[in-house]
Amino acid sequence: MSSPLYQSPKGVHDILPDDHLYFSFIKKVVRHRCRRAGFRRISTPMFENVDVFTRGIGETTDVVEKEMFVFESKSGKKFALRPEGTASVIRAYLEHGMQQLPKPVELYYIEPFFRYNRPQKGRYHQFHQFGFEVLGEADAAIDAQVIYLAYRINQDLGIADQLSLQINTIGSVADREKYKEDLIHFYTGKERSLCEDCKRRKDKNPLRLLDCKEEDCQILASMAPQFEHVMGEASKDHFALLLEYLEKLKIPYTKNPRLVRGLDYYTHTVFEFWSKSEGSQNATGGGGRYDGLIELMGGQDTPGLGYSAGMERTMEYMKEVGIRPPNKDKVQVFLAQLGLVAKKRSLSLLNELRERGINVVGAVGKDSVKAQMGLADRLGAKYALLLGQIEVQENTIILKNMEKGCQETIPYEGIVDKMVQLVGENKLEDKRLWEE
Ligand code: AMP
Repeated sequence: MSSPLYQSPKGVHDILPDDHLYFSFIKKVVRHRCRRAGFRRISTPMFENVDVFTRGIGETTDVVEKEMFVFESKSGKKFALRPEGTASVIRAYLEHGMQQLPKPVELYYIEPFFRYNRPQKGRYHQFHQFGFEVLGEADAAIDAQVIYLAYRINQDLGIADQLSLQINTIGSVADREKYKEDLIHFYTGKERSLCEDCKRRKDKNPLRLLDCKEEDCQILASMAPQFEHVMGEASKDHFALLLEYLEKLKIPYTKNPRLVRGLDYYTHTVFEFWSKSEGSQNATGGGGRYDGLIELMGGQDTPGLGYSAGMERTMEYMKEVGIRPPNKDKVQVFLAQLGLVAKKRSLSLLNELRERGINVVGAVGKDSVKAQMGLADRLGAKYALLLGQIEVQENTIILKNMEKGCQETIPYEGIVDKMVQLVGENKLEDKRLWEE
């Protein structure tokens, strides 16, 4: 097959109808669970003033240094396509006076994001995330609730048991400053063993050296001083309490002292959900506390906490473990017709069936019954209705069960109710299959 004249740019992808089954299901679960927990949805623009991200995420982070799509307006203003959700949500929170709302303020989003990283499996230039933020509460019980919400969504999606919750604390800003000094001290003189990225990051952002994937850097990281030794009592207590809450909520976790997350704004709790499959460290989602961020972005000192997960990666993961979302697009009924009078009647029957919630297709542009029934087969319709001249005259209709291959002629009167009943029974069956 020759390649098509146009193709999508490298790193971006189409979401085809089969994948939308997953996307719709993920969105439905997220909306449902977030609503239940008191969250309200927010959407921010696809691009922001670049400072929102440089300030919010941190100038020396990978996301800001290397991965932002930055562009200039004609008047020379610099904008960036949003690479993540939190900084924009905080900007909106401050801009719209949401500090006045009763606390905590709980917001969630389901949006596309943009990062200029090397395209590879599960890593795109444009991707989708769902995420949530809780603003205005410092208590460790809130951390536990956010983690529970993320875990509960994974459970609904059928992937919770295949993911491991990795959790760590990176302490308060003051703890981190102390720890950074220790790390710089440790790495000084060992620069030759570090990769280029780590060499560059050593003085500005040494914490990132701990989660570098390069082998030599990992060996050094395993010998680096542990955060625990400099961490203040308040930070340790917060973490210990959180772990207690997680145990109470029966959420399994793995303490991972090397987990630091890529963005600068985190404090105290950080966590990610990793695939349990061997060798895989691909996270489906991650989050943490960011108690200094709102102040950094010009607001009053307000604690905050958030989580976000990649929808493409979640979908790939669901596919990998064999989870199939319910197919809401399935054609349930096909309506075939023969002759002008039948065609006229079938036009209103199509609409009546659709109004009653049935997915129904009618090939009103085709005249041959054989061609129409062939199409019904290819669409996988469970039932076909056939309306010909004789049926119209006798006020009947033919109902065919496509799976069993049997058919009967029945009165036209009451056909809509009958189809609603039949399709309803099948829906129940589908639901049972999904829940098994
Ligand atoms: P992060 O906050 O960077 O850890 O991102 C949270 C989640 O978003 C990750 O665990 C991924 O599932 C997803 N994600 C991040 N970057 C990309 C990307 N370039 N392409 C696809 N998914 C991504």
